[in-house]
Amino acid sequence: MRFDTIIIGGGMAGLCAGLRLAEAGQKTLIMASGQSALHFSSGSVDLLDCQGDPFAALPAFLATHPRHPYQKVGLTHIAASLADLQRHCAEQGLPLFHESHNHLRLTPIGTLKPTWLSPSSSACLGEAPAPATMLLATLAGFRDFQPALAAANLAQHPRLAQSRILTGEINLPQLATFNRNPHEFRSADIARLFDKQGQEGQALLSALAEEIRRLLRESDAPDCRHLVLPACLSLGLVGPRLAELEQLTQCTLREVATMPPSLIGMRMQDALRRRFQALGGTFLISERVLGATLDGNRVTGVYSQNGADQLFEADDFVLASGSFFSRGLVSRLGGISEPIFDADVLSLAERDDWAGRHLFDHHPFMGFGVKTDEQLRVLRGGKALTNLYGAGSVLAHYDPVAEGSGSGVAVATGWQAASHILTKAAARDSMTGAPSTPSLAREA
Ligand SMILES: Cc1cc2nc3c(=O)[nH]c(=O)nc-3n(C[C@H](O)[C@H](O)[C@H](O)COP(=O)(O)OP(=O)(O)OC[C@H]3O[C@@H](n4cnc5c(N)ncnc54)[C@H](O)[C@@H]3O)c2cc1C
Repeated sequence: MRFDTIIIGGGMAGLCAGLRLAEAGQKTLIMASGQSALHFSSGSVDLLDCQGDPFAALPAFLATHPRHPYQKVGLTHIAASLADLQRHCAEQGLPLFHESHNHLRLTPIGTLKPTWLSPSSSACLGEAPAPATMLLATLAGFRDFQPALAAANLAQHPRLAQSRILTGEINLPQLATFNRNPHEFRSADIARLFDKQGQEGQALLSALAEEIRRLLRESDAPDCRHLVLPACLSLGLVGPRLAELEQLTQCTLREVATMPPSLIGMRMQDALRRRFQALGGTFLISERVLGATLDGNRVTGVYSQNGADQLFEADDFVLASGSFFSRGLVSRLGGISEPIFDADVLSLAERDDWAGRHLFDHHPFMGFGVKTDEQLRVLRGGKALTNLYGAGSVLAHYDPVAEGSGSGVAVATGWQAASHILTKAAARDSMTGAPSTPSLAREA
């Protein structure tokens, strides 16, 4: 099977690369062994943890982090990659918002985390004043969002010093089915009930609206009009359902990502995959790439668990296989390695130096990853593989947790890897006289 570009990894980085390439008219394949970090993520895109405008803070940050992946993308292209992500998500009915500064996203334990882009349905504090009263509600028996804990933490935040934070529990007899096995009482299980077509799903939504009205009537603040619910109302796009519920309750309703699985992240994964396929891309799931064939410093093909004789060939490849979490990097007694290409990996020789002593210390292993050149080409034996580009959390020299840059790096480097591939393809086309791809014609 032959493609223009093959991307290994179907998370945020692989999808952002794939969207740019497929939109430019390339025959693009994404091979993903399984779920990505998006299934566990808030669905918000962290660019850089700072109080103000992250784009204003980035130059000073990069001056002190000269080998950071953002350095290889540049501010203009970082902005362009995020704008593209917003556009693709909007196309799939998943609007993302940002303001001139980072906004604060509510976490399930009631902390507020600075982030750049969030789905419009997410509970966030932005530039507008915090509501005077808000109600954090959950479904009775649901364990992955505890309003009392969240409210206690939220009340400590200066932005909410003047706000009253109420908590409440919604009782829906329709959910009694989960009493038999509380392990099945997860956000995805509940969402499936709301997603049922016809009368059953509609009756559940009406019952939820009635319960919200009861909670408000019986609360200390019946005039409260701001509600936060755990994200469990739909596996798919939740916008229309939230709008209907807002109409039935006359309240503003926002969702908080629950403990994993996180439906907000899963919706984003799904929206981006749908968009990629709508643009003509091929997405193969359960396809673990095990190895590659090389001709000198050029990758000629990759093969999966189906055998080395079934080679997937392409002009270019993107390695977007994630970090330790997704097994894009592997840690063994002998050290850290990248399992597909045996790429050069930044690590430390002494295992004792990999982690700090305490949980909130600096942990060097967070910055471990695959080394690349200035064009994001993966290094092997000290030399760049000429047609293999690295993107996302497989890369070295950044710490997504300490910097608050997780998805930002994935989006920007995925987009930038695709840009390099398109530039190279355009040069090839001009030499052979082949017509240039639509998006490159636009850029020219
Ligand atoms: C639990 C968790 C929560 C997070 N929450 C946030 C958040 O809220 N906001 C934020 O900005 N960042 C968050 N992050 C940071 C996250 O790393 C980035 O947001 C980003 O999603 C990383 O994307 P990625 O595509 O590089 O890697 P991943 O999402 O890890 O995707 C890697 C992909 O590669 C595939 N893969 C791996 N090996 C192979 C192979 N051999 N063959 C084929 N496919 C393979 C995997 O199946 C997966 O599809 C979170 C990270 C984690 C771990």
